[in-house]
Amino acid sequence: MDDLKELYQQMILDHNQNPQNFREMENATSKAEGHNPLCGDEITLFLHVENEKITDVSFLGSGCAISKASASIMTTLLIGKSVEMAESLFEKFHTMITTGEISEDMGKLTVLAGVHKFPSRVKCAVLSWHTMNNALHGNTNLTTTE
Ligand code: ZN
Repeated sequence: MDDLKELYQQMILDHNQNPQNFREMENATSKAEGHNPLCGDEITLFLHVENEKITDVSFLGSGCAISKASASIMTTLLIGKSVEMAESLFEKFHTMITTGEISEDMGKLTVLAGVHKFPSRVKCAVLSWHTMNNALHGNTNLTTTE
């Protein structure tokens, strides 16, 4: 596979076209906004956390295929996970996206492993995760990848 094909795998294209959990959440326990000025990606992330468990995640926003697919895949993985698990996945994802190194238990997140070869796309992929992490820790200031 050439690099670009590896970057835009079918699952990424599917999530971009039909993003999961792309909706506003009325009973969110926290919410954060993120912006990647380099590409123009914008995201509003909603979280519902109960007893240290993420019971719902959703997002709204606009951006490139990578940012949207990354946010969509993230929401599908985080629903039902503990806060601790989400933090651990965030760290693993960050490592993969910057180095290409894949850890265990990353599931379909690995479709984004090719992103590390494209430094300009790394910020697109991590935007939703940074925003989620800020929402998780009550930091509702605008998240920016700069
Ligand atoms: Zn982007």
